[in-house]
Amino acid sequence: MSTIDIIPLVKPPDLVALQLLLRRLSTQNPHHYELTNKLRRELAGHYGESTLGYYLKLGNHDDVPTLYGLRLRGRHNYFQIDTLMLFQNFILLIEVKHIKGLITLGNQKGKMVRFHKERTETFDHPLLQAKIQSNHLKEWLLPQNLHQLPIHCLSVFTNPHSILQLENPNEDILVNIQIPSRIEELKELYPKSHMDQSILIKAAKELKSAHTPRHIPFIEKLGIPQEHLVKGVYCRQCLDGITRREKGTWICGKCGHHDKSAHLTALQEYRILYGERLTMGEAKKFLNINSRSTLYHLFKKIDFTFQGTKRGRVYIIPEQKQFVPQKL
Ligand SMILES: [Zn+2]
Repeated sequence: MSTIDIIPLVKPPDLVALQLLLRRLSTQNPHHYELTNKLRRELAGHYGESTLGYYLKLGNHDDVPTLYGLRLRGRHNYFQIDTLMLFQNFILLIEVKHIKGLITLGNQKGKMVRFHKERTETFDHPLLQAKIQSNHLKEWLLPQNLHQLPIHCLSVFTNPHSILQLENPNEDILVNIQIPSRIEELKELYPKSHMDQSILIKAAKELKSAHTPRHIPFIEKLGIPQEHLVKGVYCRQCLDGITRREKGTWICGKCGHHDKSAHLTALQEYRILYGERLTMGEAKKFLNINSRSTLYHLFKKIDFTFQGTKRGRVYIIPEQKQFVPQKL
C-alpha cells in the first residue's frame, strides 16, 4: 500500500542547477563560498524531505494523492508547500525542518529559537509558516471542489541531531518517527466526509499543472564571468573527469571511460545554467571543441529547432527529462 505521488519527491531544479554550477565554478570566484554553503543547506532540506517521505510510506495511506514541493502562484507571490496529502476527510499540509541543534518553540505567536555551535538564531514559528501557506492554499482551492475540506498543518523535524523543546505541548510539532501515528489520529479526528477519490485525484492533477518549480538563473543573476567556469564535457561514468574528443568519442581523462554521446548531457547542463538558446560559438566554447566541423557533425544529429539565418543562427536545445546523473 502506498501513496499516489502526483508530484514525486525529486531533487528540485534549482538544487540541480546549483550542483551543476558548483561542479564547474572556480574556487576563486567570490560567490563560491556562499554558494557552497547554500548547496549544503538545500541538500540537507532535500534530505529531510526524503526521510519524511520514507515515514509517510510506512503508514497505511493507500491511494492518498500526495504532492511534494508544490509551488503555486498566490495572489501576490509564490508559496511553497513541502508536502501536501489529500485525504478523503481532510487536507494535510506538512512543513519540514531539517535543522540541527537545540530548538525551542513557544506558542504560535512566538518564534522558533535554535542554539547550535554556540550560536543562537531565531526563525518564524514553523506552524505559523504552515498556516500562512494553508491560507494561500485555501484561496487557491476556492474554485475547486476541495475548499470544504479542512486543512491540518503539521511541522515535522527530520534531523536526527535536533532536540525539540516545546514550551507548551503541541502534538502538531513532531519528529518524523511520530508521523505515521499522528496521521492515524487525524484520520479519526475529522468527520468522515468521504470526498470522492476521483475528485481528489482531479484536484491533485490541477495543482500539479499549476506547479511552477523555482529556477534561479544563477549565472545571469550573479553575473559569473565565462572564464570562471570549467569548460568541456564531463564524464558520465565518474561524473568528475573532463573528457577529450578522440576518433568520434569522448574519453574521460580520469577514469578512461569511452562515451559517444556525453555532449548531449553537457548541452542539457548548458540549458539549465544559461537557458535553452545557444549559438555555434557559445557551444564551441562551452563544450571546448576546437573544430567547427566536429561541432557541425555533432549538431546535425541533434533534433534542434533553430531561429535565424546560418551565420547568426540560434539553436534551441530540446529538453531531455531526467538527464542528470544519479550521483549529482
Ligand atoms: Zn570518468
